[in-house]
Amino acid sequence: MDDYVRLAGLATELVNTAPGVWHGEDQLADTADLRAFLAEHGVDAEPAASDLDAVRELRTRLREVLDARDAETIASGASELVARGLGTVGLAADARGHQQWCARPRPDADLADRLALLGGLGVLGALRTLGPERFRDCASDTCSGVFIDTTRPGRRRYCMPDLCGNRANVAAYRARRRADS
Ligand SMILES: [Zn+2]
Repeated sequence: MDDYVRLAGLATELVNTAPGVWHGEDQLADTADLRAFLAEHGVDAEPAASDLDAVRELRTRLREVLDARDAETIASGASELVARGLGTVGLAADARGHQQWCARPRPDADLADRLALLGGLGVLGALRTLGPERFRDCASDTCSGVFIDTTRPGRRRYCMPDLCGNRANVAAYRARRRADS
């Protein structure tokens, strides 16, 4: 739960897999995409085909939360997402024996519920620590992505820093992805 930077990154990157950010091309097109996304973010789960629609719905809801921009709306939206997946909250020892906040999902939570919990915690942590001005639109003219800036100086401009800086990079990246798949 203290790891809000990682979880805010998960929320940002989930939102930016949406077809609207990729000129119609969904980056969660199938369970293989979803599996890769989970692995990238250290979420230990094997997605079923039935998880895909639920995760995409969550993605839409999370986008609304990131688009809100006022603290109250962001907080209430993210709190709802947390409540959707939360089982218990308490302290647990980490690898060094230090007690850390720990939020566990409900035993019957499906994958989308678990991601709602993780993304919601990331949003709440970033909002509490950094404030609503860190929730921003991508500065690229050709990108409709959004992001939570968790960098220390707070000067991040792009939703996908390696890509959105220039259009040519994006086109090349998409061509590579197509070639790979
Ligand atoms: Zn962008």
